[in-house]
Amino acid sequence: MAKIKAEYIWIDGHSPTPKLRSKTKIIDGPVSELSQIPEWSFDGSSTLQGVGHNSDRAMRPVDFVPDPIRGGEHILVMTEVNYPDGTPHKSNKRVNLVDVVKRHLAHEAWFGIEQEYTFFRGRSPLGWPEGGYPAPQGPFYCGVGADEVFGRDIVERHLDACLYSGIGISGVNAEVMPGQWEFQIGPLDPLTVSDQLWIARWLLYRIAEDFGVNATLYPKPVQGDWNGAGAHTNFSSKEMRGDGGYVFIEAACKKLEERHAEHIAVYGAHNDLRLTGLHETCSIHEFRYGVGDRGASIRIPLPTMRDGKGYLEDRRPAANMNPYEVCAIIMDTICSGEM
Ligand code: ADP
Ligand code: MN
Ligand code: MN
Ligand code: MN
Repeated sequence: MAKIKAEYIWIDGHSPTPKLRSKTKIIDGPVSELSQIPEWSFDGSSTLQGVGHNSDRAMRPVDFVPDPIRGGEHILVMTEVNYPDGTPHKSNKRVNLVDVVKRHLAHEAWFGIEQEYTFFRGRSPLGWPEGGYPAPQGPFYCGVGADEVFGRDIVERHLDACLYSGIGISGVNAEVMPGQWEFQIGPLDPLTVSDQLWIARWLLYRIAEDFGVNATLYPKPVQGDWNGAGAHTNFSSKEMRGDGGYVFIEAACKKLEERHAEHIAVYGAHNDLRLTGLHETCSIHEFRYGVGDRGASIRIPLPTMRDGKGYLEDRRPAANMNPYEVCAIIMDTICSGEM
């Protein structure tokens, strides 16, 4: 037995967009399974999760990975927030996803999430002239060279960190607005993709911190003719992936159309600033799906159409969405009723 550092990560009670918090507990290690990691607590009155003299909140470990920052046997622990008696706190959106997953287990849902984000140094996006603007958008997407992309050293460190931790990261790219980037997690089952996305977000903030840079998930970091930041959510069920699955994909689009407003309600705060109908988005007030259409709410990728099976891309979620909520409503809408 040796002592190890376990960084407990939790989602706070900030509204409308929660923030990540973490603190370190020294525990006995090495740890090989979740049950070896003790529950812990924090002061909810400092995180908008409790008031007064009864503000102790419990952190229940739900996932852990090797800590790429501290190395060795040290770990990062993703937790959910409950009351001391085990009742879920209202900021705990994971419990509902657990429920939805149980109901629809037979459909073998997979999610792949594209997390866009923007680096800031002080008040300007990274690489932007102080108080001014760079050249108009165009050359920056997937660009190369010191005049095109800003923050690649952080992006590479983050990618290595995710790989070290065994997070299912599937790629990274520079985005349309300079200083904006994306990483993708998945495809994975809904709980794993969500837990891992939260850990990957924490790692992004933590690594950028060492560079004096702040990463933000705000959906429209710069007003005007600049792309916003989304979290395109790619989904498939067993039926959609099987031969002839295309009919299930079209049926899914029709189901999504019927609940557009309910979906938008959990797709992230300030998403109206991003979903304008410009900059590769569909207006927040409309619903459209289409093959290879990046101006639609739902895009069916060309290879999916060609193969007659595959997945769909929900382009509506904003970068600051909570994956527990987004995965839950997508599964609930698509997997309920007749498939
Ligand atoms: P684009 O930028 O063209 O929209 P990306 O390559 O950034 O596409 O992201 C595509 C995402 O689709 C990846 O995150 C990947 O994990 C996910 N994906 C691929 N196949 C499936 C599938 N069968 N079910 C769900 N997600 C999938
Ligand atoms: Mn992408
Ligand atoms: Mn993108
Ligand atoms: Mn996409």
